[in-house]
Amino acid sequence: MFPNISILNEEFDEDQPRQIVSSYSDIKKLLSPPANKINSDIIIDRHKAKSHTYGLIESKGAEQYLIKVIQNNDLSEIQNLLDEAENINIYTITDHKKYTLLHLAAYNNNLDTVKLLINHVKKQHKHKCMSILTEWVNQQTEDGFVAFHFAAYRGNIEMILEFEKCGANLFIRNAQGMNGLHLAAQGDQPKSVVYFKKIGFDFAQKDSKGGTALHWAAYYGCELAVNYLLSFTDQLLDIKDAEGLTALHLASMSGNSRIVKKLLLQGANRNIKNKEGQTAADIAQANSFKAIHKMLTESQNFLITYFSISQGFQKVNRSKDKMFKFIAMLIYCQGITIYYNFYPFESYQNLIYYSAFQLLIWFFFIIVWLSDPGKQIKKQDKIEQELLKSLYEILQRYDAKDICPECVCVKSPRSKHCDICQSCVLVYDHHCPWVDNCIGSNNLFQFYIFVWLLCLDVTLTLAFQFYFVIKQIQNDKGIENEFIILFILSLFSIIIMLLFLFPLWFLLYIQTINLLTGQTTYEKYSQSMKNSNTQSTVSCRNCLQMCCYNKINSQEKKKQNHQSFQLFDSNQKS
Ligand SMILES: [Zn+2]
Ligand SMILES: [Zn+2]
Repeated sequence: MFPNISILNEEFDEDQPRQIVSSYSDIKKLLSPPANKINSDIIIDRHKAKSHTYGLIESKGAEQYLIKVIQNNDLSEIQNLLDEAENINIYTITDHKKYTLLHLAAYNNNLDTVKLLINHVKKQHKHKCMSILTEWVNQQTEDGFVAFHFAAYRGNIEMILEFEKCGANLFIRNAQGMNGLHLAAQGDQPKSVVYFKKIGFDFAQKDSKGGTALHWAAYYGCELAVNYLLSFTDQLLDIKDAEGLTALHLASMSGNSRIVKKLLLQGANRNIKNKEGQTAADIAQANSFKAIHKMLTESQNFLITYFSISQGFQKVNRSKDKMFKFIAMLIYCQGITIYYNFYPFESYQNLIYYSAFQLLIWFFFIIVWLSDPGKQIKKQDKIEQELLKSLYEILQRYDAKDICPECVCVKSPRSKHCDICQSCVLVYDHHCPWVDNCIGSNNLFQFYIFVWLLCLDVTLTLAFQFYFVIKQIQNDKGIENEFIILFILSLFSIIIMLLFLFPLWFLLYIQTINLLTGQTTYEKYSQSMKNSNTQSTVSCRNCLQMCCYNKINSQEKKKQNHQSFQLFDSNQKS
């Protein structure tokens, strides 16, 4: 399964070498030869070729030479040849694999050559040029590729439009049933993906082996294509191909941990088995991808999930439940402490201090909960088609890596999309389920103070509770009857706080190091994922940057973003 156009894959930049299980090695037999080897056996002598008469019959040498110069992207030479070869019907030229000149120019991603060739035919055949061009652009190679397939693979929208103007059928499939979208996914080309969405491609369309565009993107480690495809629909996640493989199986097979993570966070089902009964985790294990295997098999401790200490690699829907659980636990612990530790002993002064401290915690809780962490503008009021149009426009101006397809905005360098808040957040740190909000440029400092206060609170309260419990136990009369229930409740709050104690101090430690090194938790985590050894320097300046300057900068960024949206809107109107 998964036949592939290997001619297209030789220029892939990959983080990790592709590791393919045995059944996938059969694919190679189905593949076309690399395009740059097409006709490489023909040794062309420029002068010898030129000496030919460029008539229809005696033009073989010139045709071969034309193929060669198009392969070499030699634009001025192509122009010279076309000027000289007035009588050659260039649209009839093909090589032994039935690649036309348009195929070759498109494969080389050379728009100028494509335009030259098309204009040449237009000049040559003024009256019936349209029918010739239509036939030419829809001509298929032995493997069923049309020239536009290569343009889609290269993400060259201008070229696709050029072919479209000549009557190209964008829904043509190659011999393996792949359409332009499958090829755009293989080539990791978000521009093509967005264009196909715009013209109404069905993203769930399968090739002859049942693979969707997402299967291909996942298999080839094309992260951008995966992100853009998933930004439009999550209906593709669990589609199986003819061998029962989902995109998660294929990402796990190719060893791309970032794609595996993305798929899991989007809600891919990790328990689906292929026809051989393997889950994605089994495949990762067979290929010795330990990190991926761990990601796919992590089982979360009930308590960790319950207390929202870690979210794990799974889809998390935004809900206030976790925050309410946190609030309930905090109130419970505070209530127990106040009622059983201060009240009975009439230590009113201490009670006032303690209560003031608790109020301070609540004050910071509310600030972090309700604050805008630095979300980038999302055009909620726009309908899907308008958003798609905006996305397409932005893609013409910015690098696809710098755009968030979900928010349809240009990301700032340190921003990141939060899948829970469904928004990009400037200087993204993490999403905190306790406060049901993201932590970013605008509320990082407040969050840091909140964590400090919580750490102190939990530690002090624990000390009080222990003191109370020990006092009860040491009481000569034993635990008095009226105190038994209180004693049990107190023990329960001790358990809750002990569970929080370690994660809280750890969080405080991480946040302190982050502030001093000027990093966010997300940056720190993604750096360790990449095994990067860049040492961050510790300085108070970093601290200032994280607490104040980022906030000021983010306000600037927001303004810019807003202006760029207005610009797009006015462009579209005009
Ligand atoms: Zn976003
Ligand atoms: Zn969030």
